Amino acid sequence: MTRSCEVAIVGSGFAGSLLARVLAVLGYDVMLIERGTHPRFAIGESTTPLANLSLERLAVRYGLSDCYQLATHGRWLTHFPELRRGLKRGFTYYRHHPGERFADRGAESERLLVAASPDDALSDTHWMRADVDHHFVRQAEAAGVEYLDGTALTSVELGPGPARLSGRREGRAIAIEAGFVIDASGPGGFLARQLALPSGLDRTHTRSALVFSHFDDARLMADEMSTLPAGPYPDDWAAVHHLIDEGWMYSLRFDEGTTSAGFLLTPRGLASIGEASAGDPTLLWRALLDRYPTIGRLFTDAPPTMPIGFVPRVQHRLTRGVGARWALMPHAYAFVDPLFSTGIAWGLRAVERLALAFEQAADGDRRPDARTLARYDAALGAEADQIDLVVAGAYEAVAHFDLFAAQAMLYFATVSFAEASQRLGGADGAAWKGFLGVGDTVLGPVPRESLERLRRITRGEGSAGAPAERAAFGEWIAAAIAPRNVAGLADPARHNMYPVDLDVLVDRHALLGLTREQLVRGLPALRGLGPEPTFVPPVTRANERRTGVATQVGAPLPERAPATNLP
Ligand SMILES: Cc1cc2nc3c(=O)[nH]c(=O)nc-3n(C[C@H](O)[C@H](O)[C@H](O)COP(=O)(O)OP(=O)(O)OC[C@H]3O[C@@H](n4cnc5c(N)ncnc54)[C@H](O)[C@@H]3O)c2cc1C
Repeated sequence: MTRSCEVAIVGSGFAGSLLARVLAVLGYDVMLIERGTHPRFAIGESTTPLANLSLERLAVRYGLSDCYQLATHGRWLTHFPELRRGLKRGFTYYRHHPGERFADRGAESERLLVAASPDDALSDTHWMRADVDHHFVRQAEAAGVEYLDGTALTSVELGPGPARLSGRREGRAIAIEAGFVIDASGPGGFLARQLALPSGLDRTHTRSALVFSHFDDARLMADEMSTLPAGPYPDDWAAVHHLIDEGWMYSLRFDEGTTSAGFLLTPRGLASIGEASAGDPTLLWRALLDRYPTIGRLFTDAPPTMPIGFVPRVQHRLTRGVGARWALMPHAYAFVDPLFSTGIAWGLRAVERLALAFEQAADGDRRPDARTLARYDAALGAEADQIDLVVAGAYEAVAHFDLFAAQAMLYFATVSFAEASQRLGGADGAAWKGFLGVGDTVLGPVPRESLERLRRITRGEGSAGAPAERAAFGEWIAAAIAPRNVAGLADPARHNMYPVDLDVLVDRHALLGLTREQLVRGLPALRGLGPEPTFVPPVTRANERRTGVATQVGAPLPERAPATNLP
């Protein structure tokens, strides 16, 4: 079997299938090649406002109404109740200490809540990836993408002409000639191995191991710690982070009761908990629950829905993200750590960028030009570095809750400023804006300096530093983010409880380069109260024959397949 197409996309996670679908809408002849089958388990579930903004922009630009509907919890429930999801109102953090129950010290508790949405309807979501990725694959097929699952690619030949991919499907050899190859196959991906792309891991700082699963019947922190003062949203309907001496734990609750949870452990943390138990992830999981009694109470009676898994190192990084006829999606290029949930937003931003690159080429060369590819490559490298610096700083800051709360302000100031400016400034140019402050002359350099300052305090050994050092760090962060602080962050009077505060935003209109009146006029857009957009696919010469294709959604999902997107 020899097939040919204009674009071959390897890997059908949400990034691969969404890009495949957009390119089909633009009139490209696209093949989407997956080694497994859907639905399949995948990790990486918690979305953020920037991720959902990207989804909305893709929806409007390419006529993908489901992407708009899946961008808030309220619209999702109305339009796609059959796709499993969780309500995510914000980011919740607790600092635990070995052998001690989490201490309720009222407003002085080691607890940080940052709201990401003003109410449930407009809220972000956790994606049950088995359902969501499968949905996007079906939508890609409905848009005209040729989808080949169960396909094991074994080689790629790249020369001056079309790329030639070879492999096996259903026991038969398969060869595909493609004008361009996009690798969306995640860590240790297809092109990284085939082209022996050099690793760039040695330029990064973050290192963590992962022990994880999905669980039934996990208890709520709100029940366990019922006397804590009320926060800006219910603590558990969020991306919940439990900070511990050895690293941190994520806990993401789905509406139907499942909880996705995992510990990320530093090399020192893993050694202290007993590296030996890593050979048996269940023992490692239990050792962590035993060491932290409050987390233990949440999960002791929560059976895993699949075997507890262990990944000795989640980080990977390459030194090159493009060639003349190929490009990598972010997750194939680099991964840092789930702290701050950057993966989905970064992946969707890349879908937007490559979609624009192909859109520009649609009536010409039908391949992104060298200049655009170089720009894409440079963005990948700078953004991977920036994510690493912000996360590595946060790992240092785990040494003391005050340090962590201050470092977290850097992340939240960066993303809330980006969100406000993108919502108020319209879609133009947003896709190519630097992710996580890259290219911002104010915020861009802060993560590197922050990491250096934190290392001086912790001496790189997890020392909590002196009270004066911690206070000085907090003051430095507050001053560093002040020119972009549209959300009233780093304010001691808030006691680490940050609601969505539109009054502060209006007061700080000048930081966004707007008058008070301009900002007030933009508030409906910020609150998601604008009129529902219309969804009309763009018309290019080649896609005329494709417009009007009926979509098929909501087909019943078969049982989960035991595949994963982990390395
Ligand atoms: C522990 C953990 C928690 C995370 N939590 C979050 C979070 O809360 N929020 C967030 O935003 N991000 C999170 N991430 C990151 C997130 O997982 C990724 O950003 C996301 O999965 C990227 O999606 P993708 O579609 O690019 O690739 P993937 O989801 O990795 O999908 C790759 C696809 O390619 C297929 N494939 C692989 N190799 C081949 C091949 N050779 N041929 C054909 N097909 C192939 C795979 O089967 C898979 O279907 C987390 C990551 C980890 C490790």
